Amino acid sequence: MDHSHLAANWADIRHRVDAACRAAGRDPAEVAILPVSKTFDPEVVRAAVALGLHRFGENKVQEIRDKSGPLADCGIAWVMIGHLQTNKAKDVARLASEVQSLDRTELAEALHRRLQLEGRSIDVLVQVKTSREESKYGLPPAELPTFLDRLRQYDTLRVRGLMTLAIHTDDPVEVRACFRQLRELRDAAIARGHDIPRLSMGMSGDFPLAIAEGATEVRIGTAIFGRRPTSDSFYWPETGH
Ligand SMILES: *Cc1c(COP(=O)(O)O)cnc(C)c1O
Repeated sequence: MDHSHLAANWADIRHRVDAACRAAGRDPAEVAILPVSKTFDPEVVRAAVALGLHRFGENKVQEIRDKSGPLADCGIAWVMIGHLQTNKAKDVARLASEVQSLDRTELAEALHRRLQLEGRSIDVLVQVKTSREESKYGLPPAELPTFLDRLRQYDTLRVRGLMTLAIHTDDPVEVRACFRQLRELRDAAIARGHDIPRLSMGMSGDFPLAIAEGATEVRIGTAIFGRRPTSDSFYWPETGH
């Protein structure tokens, strides 16, 4: 199969991210792009690796399992960005380099236990629910201070920042409010002594707003890999550019 669109898409999104940084008065070097390869086959990911990409976001443990075998020679760092069931902690502890969807104590406990058995530690971001939508996972903002304090006891989990999904709406004011809330939560946590500089927020359809509010990392699927089947609950219509 021909994957030449990937190179063009990658160049285009890096260019658009850099432009959003400049528009916000920020240094483009401060904002990383996490390519989200969910639903795309290992051969597509391999073509992306050939472009120099080596970190990929996935929202299902099963997909990390299915892809990590055939791509074992690529040295990929798999980043879990989707809702994680506690009974999948074993595979995550074995295969993932990072979890951005840590949102409850039982999950931290399960990951810690499995990571101890593996003799590994991983970076984690705490997923916070900044929108009022029922369908979104994440820790309620009011619980963040207690949760961060509690995470200190798990030495296999290096807490590095926060992650969120903004409300799914066309109203940029509401979307931006979600991102702003995450930044304010991070700043308050830093003021309390937590070393959590990272903000993972923004996707193909809303990353300029996230960058304007301080994202250090944007998670980009569609704009790099193309459209996914519409059954994917996180499918967002393209906003045009
Ligand atoms: C799918 C997904 C993304 C990427 O979404 P796009 O709109 O395709 O860029 C980002 N974050 C999470 C948690 C996702 O599940």
